[in-house]
Amino acid sequence: MGKSQTALEVALEQLEIAAEKLKLEPEIHEMLKYPKRSLIVSITVKMDNGCTGVFRGCRVQHWDARGPFKGGIRYHPNVTIDEVTALAMWMTWKCAVVDIPYGGAKGGVCCNPKEMSKGELERLTRRYTSLLLDFIGPYRDVPAPDVYTDAQTMAWIMDTYSQFKGYSVPECVTGKPISVGGSEGREEATSRGVVICAREAAKTLGIRLKGAKVAVQGYGNVGWNAAKIAYDMGCKIVAVSDSAGGIYCQEGLNPYKIYEHKSKTGSVINYKGCENITNEELLETKCDILIPAALENQITKANADKIKAKIVAEGANGPTTPEADEILFRKGVFLIPDILANSGGVIVSYFEQVQNQMNYYWSEEEVRAKLKETITNAFNDVLSMARQHNVNMRVAAYMLAVKRVADAILARKGKAVTTIENSSSPI
Ligand code: NAD
Repeated sequence: MGKSQTALEVALEQLEIAAEKLKLEPEIHEMLKYPKRSLIVSITVKMDNGCTGVFRGCRVQHWDARGPFKGGIRYHPNVTIDEVTALAMWMTWKCAVVDIPYGGAKGGVCCNPKEMSKGELERLTRRYTSLLLDFIGPYRDVPAPDVYTDAQTMAWIMDTYSQFKGYSVPECVTGKPISVGGSEGREEATSRGVVICAREAAKTLGIRLKGAKVAVQGYGNVGWNAAKIAYDMGCKIVAVSDSAGGIYCQEGLNPYKIYEHKSKTGSVINYKGCENITNEELLETKCDILIPAALENQITKANADKIKAKIVAEGANGPTTPEADEILFRKGVFLIPDILANSGGVIVSYFEQVQNQMNYYWSEEEVRAKLKETITNAFNDVLSMARQHNVNMRVAAYMLAVKRVADAILARKGKAVTTIENSSSPI
């Protein structure tokens, strides 16, 4: 994402590029620029000190032509309606590109969870849920965790929703604890998807996965699990990092041991036998596969030329800026865009809801096999689109996603979609 551009501006530009390449009907393009519904709520919460806290929240529902809205809920002091709108739009594309039957949504509450007690967070979550009650549900909009919300938050939402209904409705949210209908394999699903995509890219380029050198930026949920899964598949993990810095070892690291070391010391750095490196050096490490799994805006026009990896698999959201995209494409780097590479989490969220609705549960092996099939098909669909139109994988992913949503709108409305009034009034 360009520094001067907001997330929403980037999202609209991406839509514009895809619309132009697809020669999308202007009416459909106009529809997809705006969310179908944005709900703003004011959440009053009894705080531990006896005062009443008032928090602003929202739920943005972008498009649901292909199925119920789906997307996470984020608790963060800087949440804005524009950012949540962009995130909702990206969810529409992410679900469409991997061909799961959902639309896109996102929710946000302006609060600082680090300064709130568990009781305050529970009361906030329950009140927020009750304000959304008429707009969410298994067939309407299915929330999930996002920044600073987790399985516990989802269990509170499920419990509040079920209390209002009068019976248990586990399928109203995903990312729940296993004890209340969560799915096996959900925790590492995003990373497994990232590594499967990298494996497919390696196959396409004729790189042997066994012994392929991998560098991973970020050692949180996505980074550590990706390093572990790649290692288990036979890759050689040569560098990893976290916010304190990185480590490099030409002979290869054991990610399980690095995880233990990080658990004890708080960071991956200063591991015996490894060289400490900076995060900049990690990105420029000589390797076959680079997995950025930390933050946005890591590969920019300043360092894109120095990237030596043959494959970049975006575990994080938005780690590569649009200028860097161009540079990597020209250099022949095979980039797997975030909406495809990190879609494993939402794919297994879909499986979680399917299991809840059947009330019949799959083993971890079954979940993994279905994830592999879904994400591999999506990878191949995007690759075909990229080859057919001679565009990079990111543009191809957006084209495929926008086309699938547009096709659903057209099928539902018939071909004669015309805009009577092109209103651009600011709301
Ligand atoms: P996390 O908080 O568990 O881990 C983030 C990691 O990044 C930590 O190890 C942290 O030390 C490291 N980090 C922070 N600043 C850094 C820096 N400047 N340089 C290097 N490392 C740094 O988060 P996560 O759940 O692993 O998510 C990582 C990224 O993946 C985010 O962009 C997130 O939006 C995206 N993502 C996550 C999921 C999921 O299922 N968790 C799904 C899709 C996308």
